[in-house]
Formats: sequence, structure tokens, C-alpha cells
Amino acid sequence: MLFKGIPASHGIAIGSAFLLKVEELRHARRSLDSPADAEQEIRRFKTAVSEVRHDLENIADSMGDVVEGRQILEFLLLLLQDPTINKEVESEILCEMVNAEYALSTTLRGVMEKFTVMADPYIRERVADVRDVGRRVIEKLMGTEKEALKNLDQPAVLVAKDLDPSETAGLRPGQILAIVTDMGGRTSHTTILARGLGIPAVVGLQGITSEINPRDTLIVDGIHGHVIINPTGKELKYYRDIRDKFQEAENLLQRMNPGPAVTEDGVRFELAANIELPHEVEFVNKLEADGIGLFRTEFLRLIQENGEDEEDHFQIYNKVASEMMPKPVIIRTCDMGGDKFRTGLDSVREANPFLGYRAIRIGLDRPAELSIQLRAILRASVHGNIRLMFPMVTHIEQLRGLRDLLGMVKNDLSARGIPFNEKMQVGIMVETPAAVIALDLMLPYVDFVSIGTNDLTQYTLAVDRGNPKVADLYDSFHPAVLRQIDTVVRLCHSRRKWVGICGSMAGEPLAVPLLIGFGVDEFSVAPSLIPDVKKMIGVVTTCAAREMAEKSLSIETGLKVRALVHSYVVGKYPEILLDENDWKTGG
Ligand code: PEP
Ligand code: MG
Repeated sequence: MLFKGIPASHGIAIGSAFLLKVEELRHARRSLDSPADAEQEIRRFKTAVSEVRHDLENIADSMGDVVEGRQILEFLLLLLQDPTINKEVESEILCEMVNAEYALSTTLRGVMEKFTVMADPYIRERVADVRDVGRRVIEKLMGTEKEALKNLDQPAVLVAKDLDPSETAGLRPGQILAIVTDMGGRTSHTTILARGLGIPAVVGLQGITSEINPRDTLIVDGIHGHVIINPTGKELKYYRDIRDKFQEAENLLQRMNPGPAVTEDGVRFELAANIELPHEVEFVNKLEADGIGLFRTEFLRLIQENGEDEEDHFQIYNKVASEMMPKPVIIRTCDMGGDKFRTGLDSVREANPFLGYRAIRIGLDRPAELSIQLRAILRASVHGNIRLMFPMVTHIEQLRGLRDLLGMVKNDLSARGIPFNEKMQVGIMVETPAAVIALDLMLPYVDFVSIGTNDLTQYTLAVDRGNPKVADLYDSFHPAVLRQIDTVVRLCHSRRKWVGICGSMAGEPLAVPLLIGFGVDEFSVAPSLIPDVKKMIGVVTTCAAREMAEKSLSIETGLKVRALVHSYVVGKYPEILLDENDWKTGG
């Protein structure tokens, strides 16, 4: 069975499915091999139930006199301890030899059906409570699944509705062959991390988790965005061949491209890497990147026990900067919010998180926390070539506020005799139409800018970057985006400011000639894309690129712009343009 989704991270993988997190009260059936496995499942079930009971009792204790809330909790506790339900789940596991999640879902669905037809409206309304208890227990069982994921005896294809950044970042390339999700888009943060890890991924496969059973064989084609469940022998052979060829091509690219990124007519471009976690620096250095063009520090939350510890931040920035020395490292202050790490920060659920409490909006609202990060960055600035970058600036007042805060932190360090680089460059990300249109007013406050096309595309076209339902409208080649990139580069150069590009567009093969033509000074891309981008830069002449960029500004659609670039590079770079459908379908 073939499913089509969004190709999120290149590569082809073949392996068996590991299902993580299916939120509905249904769970894929997994057959058990032996009575010992069934005993183990019953133990898992009992542990999960007692953990949920413990949680519910704690919540009940903390509720004091809220009678209604306590009544609901007491009902949930009763359900949880109901001997009939518990016995039924256990016997389902033993007799049917199935996993605990499946046995519980089946049993509770039966209970809900009985409740639904009851005459008593009170009982009918309890269906939601049954579902709630079921979800809680399954969530605990999934906790065990997460443990199982860490201890996989064989690498597997991870299948999930969606992945938290923390789940993706905890993965290791050797352990996971590929990622397949119902949700997500080309620039969602799961995608970005998958690329960083070099794991093939297909996202936005709406509903695929209901079709896949644990241990199904999957082919994941991260180039075209295809997933095949339980392929035929013919399909397996075909994809094994492609996988091997793809791997060969990747290895070849890595070997073929030493040295800097230079166009065919000899013009050098800075080609830097986007990183999320410090261990990526080793790979970045192997790829001979010209620096780190974007260090997304919000992901440090994943490895930090206490994200508010200055020393912890300092150690990480110091390590990254000194290992990259003398190459530049652009550290972006925490870009929390949007689709990243919302827990704990938002007391009110936001209807539009991408338009809400995000990035420096949080930082300016919580200056003490932002100061900790600024102090650590400044302290590390004497150990490497560090530049500081602020995300999501839309208002001049924000920029002034950030500069004032930075000034205060500098004064404080000076007063305490702590050294820092007085001349550390400060830049902003241009990732909203507001920043583009008002850029002339912002430039006096900054040393450089970096264009974040992931958000710029999202905010310009009013298309949620992570929503597969509107993914076909999300296009960085749209004339409105291209014209803004052109405007930003021209304006920056007229004020002698340096301008880079660090959104995913910088790593799209067909975008590279255009961006050269627009005149960006630096490309910053996921490390695994560096060989491809370097190769693409190498087959373009600046003169042809300028012509293409100029022409693109009067072309009506993104598709036609892709066709223009495609016709130029098709003979020069055949291996990267896998087939015309890639760009014809916007791939
Ligand atoms: C961007 O918006 O293009 C960008 C690079 O930032 P992020 O993807 O982290 O939002
Ligand atoms: Mg952004």
C-alpha cells in the first residue's frame, strides 16, 4: 500500500515499524510470542494502572474542597480499580496473546458502547470519563514504549502521529532508520531535527498511523515523500537498489567536494551549517563548513537539566565556539514558542501560537531569563568567533529593548571584571514581512541580518508551516517571498551590512542559483545538505544566476520559477534533480 506525504528529510530506508504514541483510544494490535510475554504485558498493565491511580490521588488531594472536580476524580479512580474491567483486560492479553494497549482499548470500547445505550443520562455522560482513564493508562504504557524505543534490539522505522522535539532529539541515527508521521510540514521542527540527524523522513501522511501495525515492513522514500506498507518482493528489490545508489551518490558527494563553496566562475560563497545541539559540531567540521550560521539554542532544553543555569549555557557555547574557531558561530537567542516547547510557559492556551508568545517576545517579557543567556554568550565570546542573533523581531521598540538589555548585561560583566568581546556582532533574523518592510529602520541597530525563509514564507503567505492540509500553498518560490528576499539583500548591501539566509530554502537545490543571483553573502543549511549545496554552487555562474534571479521577479508562480532554474541546471547537475516530478509537484 503506497502513501504520499511530504518529503522532509532525504534518503531511503527499509525496515520494520515501531509505533510510538497513538493518541486515540485504539491501539495497534501486536501479537505476543509466548506466555512469558503475556505475563510481562500484564505486569506492564498493572504498573501503568497503579501509576495512574497515584497521579489521580495526588490531583484529588490538591483539589481541596472543589466538590465537583473531586467527584469526577473519584469516578475515574473507581473505573481504574474496577475488578471486572481489569480482569477482562488481563484475560484478553492472556487468551488473545495481544499487547496491553490493544487489550485495554478493546475492553474500554466495549464499556463505552454499553454506557452509550444506557437510558440514564448520567451514565451516558460517563463515556468521556472512560475515554479519559483509558488515555491516561495508555500514556503510561507509552512511557514504557519510549523506553523500549531506547533499547531497540534492531534499528526500526519510527511511526508516530507527531513527534515532540524532545522525542526527535533523543534519537540516534543508528537506532532509527527513518521517521514517518501523520502531522508535520517541510519546515516543522521535527523535520529540521530529522535532517540534522541525517535520518530520512516523510511527514504530513495524514492517517498513516491507523494503517500501520507494529513490525510491518516499511519502505520510506524521503526523496519523493512516499511510504509503502508491507511492500511486494518487486518493490523491495527496486527500493533496495535505489537506496544503495543513493548511498553511493551521498558518499561520492562527500568525497568529491573538499574545499570552499565556489561558483563555476570562481566566486566564493560562505556555506555554513544550522545546528540544534552541540554534538553536531564534529560533523560540521568534517564537512568543512565555513561556520555555524544558525545555532537554534531553544533545543538545548532537551539536554539541559536546568535551562536557567548560566554556567551550563556558557559551557555549551564555549565548546561549540572553540571547536569551530576561527570560524564564526551565530548563536540565536532562545526561539521558544510557535511549534517549539510550549509546555510550562503558557498559562493560557493560545489560539494562534505562531502569532503569539514566541521568541524575543518571551525574552523581553522575562528579561531575567534572557539576561542569563546573554551573559553566557558574552562570556563565551572571548573563546571563539561568536555573533549574536535575535529571532522574530517585528518592532523597533523590541530591538531597542534588546540592545538596552545587552548593554546592561555588558555593564554588569565589566563591573565584575569578567571579560567579553566588546565588538561582538549583533544581528537579527528577518522572518516576517514587518521586518522586511521596516528593515531600513532596523538596520542602524544591527551588524548583519539572516533571512529566515521558514517563517517568512509562513507569515507572508498566511500558511501554517506545520499544517499538512495547506502544505501545497507553502512555497518559498512564491513571488511575494522572492521579492522580499531581493529587497532585503539590496537594502542590506546599500547600508554595507552582511546578509545570510538560514531558512530551509537555502538548502533547496533549485533555490541555490536564485539566491546566488539575489546576492546573499552566506548560505546556512542543515549539515547533511552541505555537500549538495556546495555542488550546486559549483555548477552556477554568477552572471547566469543574476539573470535568473532578475527574471524570477516578474514570473507569476513558484512552479514557473522552479522550471526556469531547472532548465538551467538540468544538464549540469543531473544526480540531484532526481526526476522532473520533484519540482513539478513542488518537491
Ligand atoms: C526560519 O524561520 O527560517 C528559521 C531559520 O528559524 P526557525 O526555523 O528556527 O523558526
Ligand atoms: Mg524562524
